[in-house]
Amino acid sequence: MELKEALLYEKLENQKVKCNLCSFHCLIENGKMGVCKTRINKNGVLYTLNYGRANGYSIEPIEKKPFFHFHPSSEVLSFGTPGCNFSCLNCQNYFMSQSTKEVENAYSQTRFTSPEEIVKAGREAEGFAYTYTEPTVFFEYSRDCILEEKRKTNKFHVWVSNGFYSEQLLSKIIKEDLLDAVRIDLKFTSEEKYAEVCKARFNPVIENIKKISKTSVHLELINLIIPGYNDSEQDLEKLVDLIHGIDKAIPLHFLRFYPYYKMSNIQPTSDETLKKAFKIGMEKLDYVYIGNASIKGSEDTLCPNCKTILIKRKGMIVVENNLTEPFCPKCGNKINIKL
Ligand code: SF4
Repeated sequence: MELKEALLYEKLENQKVKCNLCSFHCLIENGKMGVCKTRINKNGVLYTLNYGRANGYSIEPIEKKPFFHFHPSSEVLSFGTPGCNFSCLNCQNYFMSQSTKEVENAYSQTRFTSPEEIVKAGREAEGFAYTYTEPTVFFEYSRDCILEEKRKTNKFHVWVSNGFYSEQLLSKIIKEDLLDAVRIDLKFTSEEKYAEVCKARFNPVIENIKKISKTSVHLELINLIIPGYNDSEQDLEKLVDLIHGIDKAIPLHFLRFYPYYKMSNIQPTSDETLKKAFKIGMEKLDYVYIGNASIKGSEDTLCPNCKTILIKRKGMIVVENNLTEPFCPKCGNKINIKL
């Protein structure tokens, strides 16, 4: 297996290293791995274990990620690698994301795929989505794929992410102009819930959302509504207020929870709860959607000013797009969308 030296780490005394890729900033002793188990310290040098280990390729509409305000109807090559820095009890992709922590040979289902091969595999697509698992923990690979692609063509690159970046990582992404869009999963609005369900922290995620919202990188958010965890009116209002305080034009997707992994005993989110969330969201935010459900009108983009339907969707697919520029054709209102 190819080992590639990691980026963004510090060498410390006694062959220890500090990984600065995500907000865990793991201190790793010689011979040990960090929390994500995707990087190992060998004699004081930190190596990635998942470089080139792409898995789960598919070419799909960008709406499936979901991105509703970024190049509507475009097709992306989606892939990820084994491993994640979070340990969410409800992970839908746990067999891939948690494999580095749970099984002996997490990479047996993957074959080495070079950045050149990735670029070739995506030649019919308009962009690339680093997804399925957390792209932070395969940053070196993602970056090389982006740089390789930029040398040849000029397509877009998006991350589907938990947003738990270190300051160093976010600065590098912005400085090197690596990403065109990021979709962050804002799971909860408290440290307690992030710790209980994801073994992670809330503050770095919300701080990164604030920072990204001030850059030219397009940003969308999702919130998976888990019954008993974040589905009360109070929870939903707190989430919506938080986003409203950052920028009410950030698109928010509420998603239906399905029982998975270590939360297989919890019922799926009801239509009633999803409709309640939609109503609370639409009172303060410009663009709110419901995913993993078939609730009429909840996937359409309306002009926040005059309520004209701008884009109609069904099952995360665009069925009608009335936008040729980022302005409402009826009232001229500016729409937060990259076409
Ligand atoms: S990416 Fe995050 S979890 Fe993984 S070793 Fe680095 S700091 Fe630790």
